[in-house]
Amino acid sequence: MESVSRAAVKIDIERSEIREFLFPPLGDNDGLLKVEASGVGGSDPEMYRRENTAPCIMGHENVGTVARIGDAAAQRWGLRAGDRIALHEYLPCWHCHWCRQGDFRLCMEADFFNVKDRFNTLRYGTCNADIPPHLWGGFSEYMYLAPNAVIHKIPADMDARLATLAVPLGNGVQWAVLDGGAGLGKTVLVFGPGQQGLSCALAAKQAGALTVIIAGMTRDRTRLDLSLSLGADIAVDVQQEDLAAVVMRATGGMGVDVVVDTTGDPDGKIAEQAVALSAKGAWLSLNGLSASVPLGEIKKRYLTVRAPRGHSYRAVQMALDILASGKWPAEKLCSHDFPLEQVHEAILATAGRGIEGAIHVTVSPHKS
Ligand SMILES: [Zn+2]
Repeated sequence: MESVSRAAVKIDIERSEIREFLFPPLGDNDGLLKVEASGVGGSDPEMYRRENTAPCIMGHENVGTVARIGDAAAQRWGLRAGDRIALHEYLPCWHCHWCRQGDFRLCMEADFFNVKDRFNTLRYGTCNADIPPHLWGGFSEYMYLAPNAVIHKIPADMDARLATLAVPLGNGVQWAVLDGGAGLGKTVLVFGPGQQGLSCALAAKQAGALTVIIAGMTRDRTRLDLSLSLGADIAVDVQQEDLAAVVMRATGGMGVDVVVDTTGDPDGKIAEQAVALSAKGAWLSLNGLSASVPLGEIKKRYLTVRAPRGHSYRAVQMALDILASGKWPAEKLCSHDFPLEQVHEAILATAGRGIEGAIHVTVSPHKS
């Protein structure tokens, strides 16, 4: 068996190179993953652009085969070498107030909004590759299985690229269904037909939503068309159509029960629009870090507003179960796959640069 892993390392702003890392010494409580595929997340292009985040092995939507595992880890996780798993990016402490409640997204050691030094906080795909044992990201042939990793077993025959949707679809399940309550009879509006927005539409429809509307721009035409086979009932190009008129027509003038913004609301206009298109008692997942929502409107409409904050264990397991069911053509989301040497192109493609039509891009480190 090999003893060196090749990895694509971010070495500067939008620059990567292949480096080799010796396999780390392993103990009873940890292991090593042979990475089969690693998805490029919606946040990765921003991470790739960010200053002072090098060296870093990116890749946080990871799927692979357990290559080596310590005895205690094998017992604790119920795993053995050869098993296939999908991982969360979080490396939570498992002993703080939030972890003990099962809400490790909010762990004091794993939550980006808590930690003082994001780059030196351990998390798959975003932390400093100088920290031993270095293999903290999926854009690498092998990745370190830390004792505090969050893992899900996946079926032996599940396509690895499909399984990398566990995280984005887990977000869709979390935001639209578990948080937002999209379910039987509900009407849902999703802003942004990227991998996250399409995942929200799929999760909402799977949960029984009556009408799912997805809103995008003219440049999103392919994604809007695709959404109609992945749970959306109505796909709206907001540059060609009046979104408010479409929503009101589809909801008998009531407005929608659930809104999820997956765009990050760059102009600060979506929050306002989301409120205006909401029914009384609606639930809104709003994503703009600087957008504001008038409190008076929240009261008048009796709204609940919460920002999306990643995914719970339950959400990702539900996503994997949906993917394994084969009920939806989710493989259509997997638009492009790149070898390790083309991680740079893979990340840019996700941002719509270099290659047209990317939705969910993966890196398969062992493909040549
Ligand atoms: Zn914790």
